[in-house]
Amino acid sequence: MTLLLAFDPENPPVSPPPLATRPMLWSLARQVFADHDVPEDDGRPPVPRCATCGRVWPCPPRMLAEHGLLAACAPLRPAGSGVGGPTGSGD
Ligand SMILES: [Zn+2]
Repeated sequence: MTLLLAFDPENPPVSPPPLATRPMLWSLARQVFADHDVPEDDGRPPVPRCATCGRVWPCPPRMLAEHGLLAACAPLRPAGSGVGGPTGSGD
């Protein structure tokens, strides 16, 4: 199965891609994605660990960030569908 993504999952752009439906979510997730990365070191330990939180990589924040990047590009659901964040349509 091949997924067509709007971005390179191993190196997502800092700026939201044109298809991003939630650019604010993208920005937040992209920041966490960058923060929780393995350190670039030749003498890597047997088990790679996150440079920020020290957990086995990919750490939970990194995985959450990857889900956030995907969610930022997911189609918007119509209002009243029962799924949504605390930020509704304000204007
Ligand atoms: Zn981490």
